[in-house]
Amino acid sequence: MNLSRPAGERRNRTSLKIGIVDLIERQPSRTLYGRVVNANFASIMPQAVGVWAEQLGHEVEYITYTGFEDLERELPRDVDLVFVNAFTQAAYLAYSISNLYRRRGVVTVLGGPHARAYPDDAAEFFDYVIGLADQHLITALLSDFPPNPSIGLYLTAARQPMTLPGVRERWKYIEKTLAKTRIIHVVQMLGSLGCPYTCNFCIDSEIDYQTMSYDQLREDLAFLQKQPRSLMVAWMDPNFGVRFDDYMDVIESVVPPGKLQFACETSLSLLSEANLKRMKQNHFKMVFPGVESWFDYNNKAKQKKTDTGLEKVRRVADHCNVIMEYVPYLQTNLIFGWDSDTGAEPFELTKRFLDLAPGVYPKYSLLTAFGASAPLSRQYMAQDRLLDLPFQFLDGYSGINVKTKNYTHAELFGHMTDLMKYTVSAGLIWRRFKANGSAMARYGNLLRARSKERNAGAGQGMVDHYREVQQRLENDPEFLAFGSGETTRPPAYYVQKIRQALGPLYDQLPAKVLDYFQFGEAAPNTRISLSPRVRPPLTPVEAPGDRIA
Ligand code: SF4
Repeated sequence: MNLSRPAGERRNRTSLKIGIVDLIERQPSRTLYGRVVNANFASIMPQAVGVWAEQLGHEVEYITYTGFEDLERELPRDVDLVFVNAFTQAAYLAYSISNLYRRRGVVTVLGGPHARAYPDDAAEFFDYVIGLADQHLITALLSDFPPNPSIGLYLTAARQPMTLPGVRERWKYIEKTLAKTRIIHVVQMLGSLGCPYTCNFCIDSEIDYQTMSYDQLREDLAFLQKQPRSLMVAWMDPNFGVRFDDYMDVIESVVPPGKLQFACETSLSLLSEANLKRMKQNHFKMVFPGVESWFDYNNKAKQKKTDTGLEKVRRVADHCNVIMEYVPYLQTNLIFGWDSDTGAEPFELTKRFLDLAPGVYPKYSLLTAFGASAPLSRQYMAQDRLLDLPFQFLDGYSGINVKTKNYTHAELFGHMTDLMKYTVSAGLIWRRFKANGSAMARYGNLLRARSKERNAGAGQGMVDHYREVQQRLENDPEFLAFGSGETTRPPAYYVQKIRQALGPLYDQLPAKVLDYFQFGEAAPNTRISLSPRVRPPLTPVEAPGDRIA
């Protein structure tokens, strides 16, 4: 496989060839849901890196992996440097891709959520690991990038970028990915970065809130509405609409009603009825607020601190019913396993919530700590409450890597099985169908509830999934030994799943990762980041010019 440039060509280069690989998926997918949805989740930063590299005169080959491609065949060829963007669930796929390139002399760079959550682990397998990126950092890196074969270098900008390339500049990358899907075409945009709220489990709670340029947003929206396809703009802000009126003014100044549709993730506290009216006028069709817990995080749900349990359920359900009068598709996000959760109550309250607001589609996650990325994760680390769950399963539903205070993991999965059964029961599916006002919400939710897919947002397939994991946690000796801390060697079941997911790329995994799968303890560095058992994190290079200019 000719992944690197011939050495002679490299010596004489004036411009580089840069490969960019955005791992939207971690494994092959064959489902209708994946076919419709995955290609709509291409990340913005890899596209921004591509634009910045081209502005420097370099050639860029950009690909996305949505689970439907033959990845080995599509990986960029003849490159000098390759950037990989990955969530933690795709870390092993990213590591194998990096190893494949490094064996051929190509320097590799990791960016994205995994790089931010587990920088010291990723540095074992990449030449460079990027925390926060901006144009200055990427320019400096591309000016000089010696390989770091023994341990990668961690680079981060001091803060999030103030500007990013607009949609027009990113369009050729966006279009290439959207061509992979039909029915819905979503373009991701960022109106702001960071968040003024302080939810301690969230990576964005420690990033200062900033708006992106309103002029740039206007230009982007004007450009998008001229495209022949009908497009939905998904605002990927951590918390869209903190400066609500500003964003509605921007939209209304350039987008005639109905020319574009919109979706956003935002707090319930921002969804007042006055704001909802304006969202309806501007064709917001989907909204994804986080409820998180029935006993905590009340400020973002605009609830009094004392309104917990059933009182919170009633108030949030009322609020959700109001939201759906204006925005047809509503998904609420809930997390289970908090220290404030005990017994069956959080799950029974969720059923009550679904009874009171049947039009909502709930998305459930299990409490997960991603490295040192958020204050709560660091607290769990300090309390020795983390388990060595392989990265592949840090997706909020395959397993749980936090030692929960009031449940065994088997008990949690038992509750999830019961709750999921209720969520996709025939009676509730029918009530949801009737409560949803638009065809998109009705049939979208029907498809979702009936889906055999196993992912956090799916339906009936998840009942079997939760039950299967519960049974393994109760009966499989390897799961029992792993869960009790008797061994750090992952159960063979996990390794087999990773082998299936990676296919032929499994053989490209670095030896340290394979050793970890086989022996556990033998390679603790391949697992938990920043735990007391591994060396301290690499010192961030705050001024990238210090090291690589
Ligand atoms: S409101 Fe959302 S984005 Fe903001 S800190 Fe809380 S979870 Fe994070």
